[in-house]
Amino acid sequence: MDIIKYIYKNIQYNTIIWGLFCIPLLLACDAVSKSSNLSEIELTKKRKLMVEYQIKARGIKNKKVLSAMLKVERHKFVPKFLWDQAYNDYPLPIGEGQTISQPYIVALMTELLNLKGDEKVLEIGTGSGYQAAVLAELCDKVYTIEIIPSLAETAKKRLKKLGYTNVYVFCGDGYLGLKKYAPFDGIIVTCAPPYVPKPLIEQLKEGGRMVIPVGETYQELKVLTKKKGKIIEKSIIPVRFVPMTGKYVKGDVKLPKPDYKGKMSVEEAIYKRHSVREYSKNPLSLKEISQLLWAANGINIDGITGATRSFPSAGGLYPLDVYLVVFNVKELEKGLYKYLPYKNKLSLVFAGNLKSALYEASYYQEMFNSAAAVIVYAYDYNKIRQRYGERGVIRYSHMDIGHSAENVYLQAEALGIGTVAVGAFNDKKMEKVLNIKDKKVLYLLPLGKKQ
Ligand code: SAH
Repeated sequence: MDIIKYIYKNIQYNTIIWGLFCIPLLLACDAVSKSSNLSEIELTKKRKLMVEYQIKARGIKNKKVLSAMLKVERHKFVPKFLWDQAYNDYPLPIGEGQTISQPYIVALMTELLNLKGDEKVLEIGTGSGYQAAVLAELCDKVYTIEIIPSLAETAKKRLKKLGYTNVYVFCGDGYLGLKKYAPFDGIIVTCAPPYVPKPLIEQLKEGGRMVIPVGETYQELKVLTKKKGKIIEKSIIPVRFVPMTGKYVKGDVKLPKPDYKGKMSVEEAIYKRHSVREYSKNPLSLKEISQLLWAANGINIDGITGATRSFPSAGGLYPLDVYLVVFNVKELEKGLYKYLPYKNKLSLVFAGNLKSALYEASYYQEMFNSAAAVIVYAYDYNKIRQRYGERGVIRYSHMDIGHSAENVYLQAEALGIGTVAVGAFNDKKMEKVLNIKDKKVLYLLPLGKKQ
């Protein structure tokens, strides 16, 4: 049974992608046939088949969800020329470059909300209004926000025409939620932010659930529950949604150009260099972070793009993944970032204050308390093994981390920044705190201004 479920789930993931590729083709059809020839009876039959073979067969059991999917006429939420495709197993274009989600995904997300009937639910990303209509069948009130005015307007009119009196459509940036009507028993997000927006967590009621796709190129559908003020997170399946837009979603952070000429001679830095275990509480600047990461990557040539490891280097494949945990850096939100050396950028993996979690995972070593940021070295076991074999994993990742950390030490000395290399931590806890999938954390360098 599990194998069947697995196959079905993978089929659905592929069809989402396939569906996206089909969009231009579908739009081309517009010119050929302006409207569908299917009768209401045929459409109803297709809807039944959709529920049977795309939804029930993939494991959706909640009877109320199934009957809502059977009741809501999905074709009325897509342009007329797509009516005959409205019950097919893929997303469809709804204008403005946006899509209505694949039926199975709508059913799955709805089921994950676990509605009883008396809830107040917030949806982010109204789109066509289809998901909102399904929700309206299953709870008391639906508040839904759409950022594109024309889509919000069309959905509002459509839902009114279809007789929904318990759906309230708003035009605005869903990142902020709807404070005025909070808290919500359930929150469902149908566009993907790179991390869970804080206002949405705040607007979730105690005991409430949030269903949300999170990520950029790789996205995961997650369920968050709030218990005693704490958030419990569970990953469901990989998915592909349109990205959450708006000014509050922070994308990559461009780093300022590092200085290629040192402030101190290497000899001087080597002479002075020593471990620092307690720092002043002063923040680091983005420029200093840029300089330190540049050193961590060992970039040596006269520019950032196209640069490779400096001498001494392990060769063609740089085996390390460099991350940065931010506690106190001017111009950077707290959280975990991935360093993208070739782009000279930081990419936010997730936002949040990780200080006490890192402190705990590293057996309560004090330097995490006063640090402003932490460089995290991790490596991808499989990637390195493929290239260098089993022996290479130990040899190259460990050797390169040594080189890289030495570069950071010297650079930090020249900037008046203190650091210490930390290899003693609880592996399992550290992996959980950083949530870095398939990567092994080897070494951490807490950084801060010297006292
Ligand atoms: N739930 C919709 C499909 C959603 S497609 C349906 O059933 O049809 C995702 C939608 O999210 C798009 O319409 C997009 O414009 C919207 N969106 C993207 N970023 C947003 C934001 N910050 N706030 C609100 N809506 C957003």
